[in-house]
Amino acid sequence: MSNASRPRAVVFDLGKVLLDFDYGILARRMAPLSDLSAPAILAVVNQTPLLHRYETGLLGDGEFFEAVVAATGFRGDQGRFLDWFGDIFTEIAPMVALHSTLVDRGVPTYVFSNTNAHAIRHVRRVFPFYRRFTGEVLSYEVQSMKPDVKIYEAIERMSGFGGADLLYLDDRPENIAAGASRGWRAWIHEDPDITVPRVLSLMGG
Ligand SMILES: [Mg+2]
Repeated sequence: MSNASRPRAVVFDLGKVLLDFDYGILARRMAPLSDLSAPAILAVVNQTPLLHRYETGLLGDGEFFEAVVAATGFRGDQGRFLDWFGDIFTEIAPMVALHSTLVDRGVPTYVFSNTNAHAIRHVRRVFPFYRRFTGEVLSYEVQSMKPDVKIYEAIERMSGFGGADLLYLDDRPENIAAGASRGWRAWIHEDPDITVPRVLSLMGG
């Protein structure tokens, strides 16, 4: 495929592209039932080695919960923790609308996310747009996190596309760099006002 042609599929990062998330909501809910303050709890659960192990599939739900309890002294039960842990997401409406437009036009779309089993169970249940993807490549399932090569290969294998046939949107520069190095059309997403018209223009208006 030459660069002049349209991409054949669109690959979406989830966090900060289609869904905003805020682990601060979780930390504030946990604080009254924990030994730590909300900011200290946040330092345990947000973008930490512990979360990384969960999102690489090295820890299951129960092991992750036990590790959080050990680090925070949380006295609630696992069900409550998991409810709160999932409930940190809000839709980024213009990007969800973009996804919907692409799906309506028959463009295959893929989720490409560093995430964990519990978050995805919650997202699948709560956000209808999620169920319209053609496929999903999730870090905890493939035991590899962006920007590692293995998870990019999983998208190419699942979609059957590679190189300039893929348009990829992500908010993290290191993830985009890894996609671009494979010849994907990889664009940093910062602002829906920029990304939405740019994607629609490339995809034919
Ligand atoms: Mg992201």
